[in-house]
Amino acid sequence: MMGGYMNRILRIDLSKEKIGEEKPEKDWSIKYIGGRGWGARKVWESGIDVDPLGPDNLMFFASGPLTGLLIPSAGKMTIVSISPATRIYADSSVGGAFGAELKQAGYDAIALSGVSKKPVYIMIDDGDVEIRDAEEYWGMGALATEERLKKDIGDNGIHVLSIGPAGEKLVKFACITSDYGRNAGRTGMGAIMGSKKLKAIVVRGFKDIPVADVDKFLEIAYDSFNSIYENEFLDIWQRQGTLQVIAWANERGVLPTRNFQETMFEHAEEIGGDKMEEVKTTDRACFACPMTCGNYCVIKEGNTKVVVEGPEYETAAMLGSACGIKDLKTVIKANNLCDDLGIDTISSGNLVGLLMEAYEKGILTKEDTGGIELKFGNGEALLKILEMIAKREGIGDIVAEGVRAVTEKWREMKPFAIQAKGLEQSAYDTRASPGMALAYATCDVGAHHSRAWVISKDLEMQNKWTAEERAKLVIYHQHIRPLFDCLGVCRLEWIELSVDENIYADFYTAVTGVKTTLKKLLERSEAIYNLTRAINILKGISRKDDYPPERFFCDPVPTGPLKGKLLHREEYDNLLDTYYRLRGWDSRGVPTERTLLRLGLKDVALKLKKSGKI
Ligand code: SF4
Repeated sequence: MMGGYMNRILRIDLSKEKIGEEKPEKDWSIKYIGGRGWGARKVWESGIDVDPLGPDNLMFFASGPLTGLLIPSAGKMTIVSISPATRIYADSSVGGAFGAELKQAGYDAIALSGVSKKPVYIMIDDGDVEIRDAEEYWGMGALATEERLKKDIGDNGIHVLSIGPAGEKLVKFACITSDYGRNAGRTGMGAIMGSKKLKAIVVRGFKDIPVADVDKFLEIAYDSFNSIYENEFLDIWQRQGTLQVIAWANERGVLPTRNFQETMFEHAEEIGGDKMEEVKTTDRACFACPMTCGNYCVIKEGNTKVVVEGPEYETAAMLGSACGIKDLKTVIKANNLCDDLGIDTISSGNLVGLLMEAYEKGILTKEDTGGIELKFGNGEALLKILEMIAKREGIGDIVAEGVRAVTEKWREMKPFAIQAKGLEQSAYDTRASPGMALAYATCDVGAHHSRAWVISKDLEMQNKWTAEERAKLVIYHQHIRPLFDCLGVCRLEWIELSVDENIYADFYTAVTGVKTTLKKLLERSEAIYNLTRAINILKGISRKDDYPPERFFCDPVPTGPLKGKLLHREEYDNLLDTYYRLRGWDSRGVPTERTLLRLGLKDVALKLKKSGKI
């Protein structure tokens, strides 16, 4: 048996109330590594032609071979399914320690299907598994549910995945929360859990995770922790986490402001890292993470106290500058509300910014908003509308369906809806960065920064770069960044502290006992990217879906260092063609048979052929 894996997948069918186990396929560890890779394969095999909120949509919660070990930030787990928001392939990774605890409970992954007749939660107790009644928790906030479960079970050391009212009400961008604010935020995983009437999953475990070469493993672990502790940038990461990026993005003119109309926010300092340090009480880390990028912030108003882990950059930008909100207190309150209601802060902020612009343009009136003055900068309006979305009240009922439904109802909003593939874009304006625009547009889950982040290099290179150089960097990112989600570790040490990426191949070799190199792992990550692309092609995705939002081709950047910049259609067409060619996809964006065979995906090629796609 290979080290790093527990070699068991927990199988739960909520319709039949059946609990079982299965072994992962023999070659999975090598071919699909774990985490996102296992999930993509499992979803492919279980059938993708499903109603995302129906019983047949599989949810696959998967750790990686490095999850739960003494490796910097090895607490990651990825949840994979078909998204109710985009109706295509979806995954969302979650930090904290749930993934590590799941391994210690004896499982690499959970394959969850079916729909329960009544609200339930799953208790995984060191290998013993039960489906328990959750009637008394239904309707509670996600954070409150975690707190109550810990109290009722009588163990503060358990780890919990929970949903809030938004997940129960099938809000299409509902999230899953863990460890008081570590979220699987994007693509609506909370709605899928809600559709299954599953309020929470609780895990506790005490088992050892096997390691093939303990001495080598300890040597690499010791060196990598030491190099992180000696890194000159560790201090600022521990103090501010990703919130320091607000100042960076604002200075460069890429901070989404008032629904991406502008790219610099005059109050950026008020929602940035320095301001946050004034209300921060302590750091917080995911499992085994020396970076401790989580910040606990506390604000007091009269008799009430709001405690939140965060906000991190994406949240502060989307609930802050994108909505014209100029004070950190409101951003913190909105962050806390989103976490407890169980909605994704990025999609929520993006949508509220869109509504605010529509309101200021007269497309929406007070009649539509239920009397709310939905103007940029109105913090009370932001908090109220978030609640209405999560509870599906008034206009919130339509917004809860996501950006496509909103622009279907109010077509005049289409030109300034910032999204790709039906997923609301996260927090970078890409008018001056064709590479980052390509990264968002070709991301397999929609406009999310998780797959590739090339904006810094792109801004530095500007016109000095060829389309090929730009596309190559996007592709490299799209392979290496998801590789971390396969291995089960956080990528921030590699990105922010320049930890050598080859170390992760060394860790894989020492842990599993299977000799590998970064090149080989990246090839498997490429295969997984092609698999998720194939799923999306079969779900109807084509070239037209690989384009950035309309606004970025039409409205030049109005002020700041990038004034006058915008994307050009011809240039983008050429970049997309180059990207497809380098990937071995045809001009429609479909992986060719040759590419799929090169990557060992014969059955995928056959299915695409049978369906007439190649
Ligand atoms: S860097 Fe931040 S997100 Fe990543 S594991 Fe550490 S605390 Fe978690």
